[in-house]
Amino acid sequence: MRLGIKAKQVLGVTSIVGLVVVALSAIQLSSLARMNLEGSEARGELLANTIFQRARSVVAQGGDPYAALHDDSSIRSLLESTIAFSPNVTYAAIVDTTGRIVADSDETLDGQILPPEPELSTLLAGSGFGQLQAIYEGHGRTLEITQSLLRNNTSFGSIRIGVSTLLIREDLNTALRPFVVTAGAALLIAMLVSMLLAQLLLRPIHVIRSGLSRLQQGEVGVTLDLKQQDEFGDLGTFFNAVSAQLAADRTRLAADARPADEPERDRLEDAVALVGPDDELLFANGAMLAILPESPVGRRFRELLPEDHPYRTIVEQTLEGRESQGPRSVLLGEDGGASEGEGGEWLAGTQVVHDHEGRIIGAMLLARNVGYLSQVQSTITYSRKLAALGRLSAGVAHEVKNPLNAMMIHLELLRQALSGEPGRRRHAEAAAVAGGAAVSVPATEPRIDQAAALQHVSTIADEIRRLDQVVQGFLKFTRPQEVRLEPVSLHELFEELKPTIEPEAERTGVTLVIDCPPGIPDVSGDPGLLHQVFLNLALNACQAMPQGGTLRIVCTPVRGQRISILVEDTGIGIPPDRLEKIFELYFTTKERGSGIGLSMVYRIVQLHDGDIEVQSTPGRGTTFRVQLPRADTPRKWLT
Ligand code: ADP
Repeated sequence: MRLGIKAKQVLGVTSIVGLVVVALSAIQLSSLARMNLEGSEARGELLANTIFQRARSVVAQGGDPYAALHDDSSIRSLLESTIAFSPNVTYAAIVDTTGRIVADSDETLDGQILPPEPELSTLLAGSGFGQLQAIYEGHGRTLEITQSLLRNNTSFGSIRIGVSTLLIREDLNTALRPFVVTAGAALLIAMLVSMLLAQLLLRPIHVIRSGLSRLQQGEVGVTLDLKQQDEFGDLGTFFNAVSAQLAADRTRLAADARPADEPERDRLEDAVALVGPDDELLFANGAMLAILPESPVGRRFRELLPEDHPYRTIVEQTLEGRESQGPRSVLLGEDGGASEGEGGEWLAGTQVVHDHEGRIIGAMLLARNVGYLSQVQSTITYSRKLAALGRLSAGVAHEVKNPLNAMMIHLELLRQALSGEPGRRRHAEAAAVAGGAAVSVPATEPRIDQAAALQHVSTIADEIRRLDQVVQGFLKFTRPQEVRLEPVSLHELFEELKPTIEPEAERTGVTLVIDCPPGIPDVSGDPGLLHQVFLNLALNACQAMPQGGTLRIVCTPVRGQRISILVEDTGIGIPPDRLEKIFELYFTTKERGSGIGLSMVYRIVQLHDGDIEVQSTPGRGTTFRVQLPRADTPRKWLT
């Protein structure tokens, strides 16, 4: 059984008070018992002494002492009266040496044997526990106070006073009653006080607990009012600090989260519904519920949506035809209705659900917001374009900078040649000024160096031509490219390319291996542009193997409805620091290279919604992996 702090505290305090009460009661009872026994003994002895005095004078008159004692009326009345006035005394008797009663407070017992009983003085000499035990044991017993009767210093009988423990017990019980009532009241008060105390002590715990449950329910800015100067006060301050921190974090998170007014449909969540064989809606998830009226579960699906709603149509077709319906593109209105508006494009399909015996138990409707997917896709494409533009600009800047620099230098040299200012003289002047020495350099007449000037003009003209080529190349590269997509057989494409690549391969001693069987699915592409891509990659590969090697072209279908085309060579490879630059416009390491080839390749692959990656190990070779979409790829469905 689980006890709360309050119950434990009440139990603890009450038990302590109870123990104290019990201990005090025991002490009190034992002292009461002793007092009672001593009182009984004293009264018994007094009684015995009175009888003794009278008996002595009766016996002193001579004759048969027993008969005298038996017949003496004063003795008899003394015996009877004394027991009447002594509350615990049950009998008073004079017995002879054999124990036969000579005179008894109850006259009818005279002549009978009075059995011996334990002495009261012996019990009084014992322990308090022994006395209590004797008093409260069984149905009680008799204890005696005895006094010998003497004649001529010889005992001829005794006076025996009987005291009943049952009567003492009653006395004690009567005396104890108020004490027991007081003890009970003390226990009750202790219990009440401890409950009150527990209530008071536990209040802060209740306050903290309610604060925590408010936090758990998502309440923000919960504070506790615990002003006491103790550990609970410290706990309250700590709680308030944690709550403030949580509130700040939540505000920050809320600020980071999507705006609250962002329409539900923009979230990338599939809408799912399960409809029973009799058109009853069994289940609908959040995205589906968003477009259905309130509490739709259990109602007929066709009653929930307008007649022309695509979801209703597709579910009806599924249940009527008892066949799953493939995904189809549907346009939904902004509110999820059938109206074509700003809503967006969804793909919806159904799946018939059977039980283990093959009976139809329902149809699962699944719809995905592809409008959202295409937004994501276009963001990715846009980022890629930006990255490509960055690479392009870097290449152009580099290429334009070189001729401009050269022109600047040659223009300066031309200026010097025309002004007849020899470079050597200027250097001497500069050195003299820097050294602080007053050196006079003899001035000569300006003389035009015609040959040098013509040389500089011709170099400047060359650089302008180079610049023009750069600009023309750039214009060619950036001109909007028209892409006419159609199914392209890669097998045929490489068959066509082979005669163009082979002469270059033969020239450098390269073995050409093309593994692109006719069974490979067609890709969706512009044949002319794809031709350009793979010719560039193949020629680059041949040029990277001046000492010969192997050029392998391998086509394989891969995941995501794509075809991968590997262009692998065993050539010189590309150092890691150059790998990033090879797609930059004008980047070339070749003496007569243009640096346009790979940037064109990159751009064309992008225009085909494809990917290009390169892996290379210097000295071992390079692999370009191009991935292109299959021509039979259905519209983007649940991938
Ligand atoms: P170009 O061929 O005019 O240099 P590209 O853009 O086609 O221009 O290539 C850029 C650079 O990429 C090349 O100069 C070369 O350094 C490197 N490169 C391209 N393909 C390979 C290859 N297969 N192996 C080694 N390096 C290559």
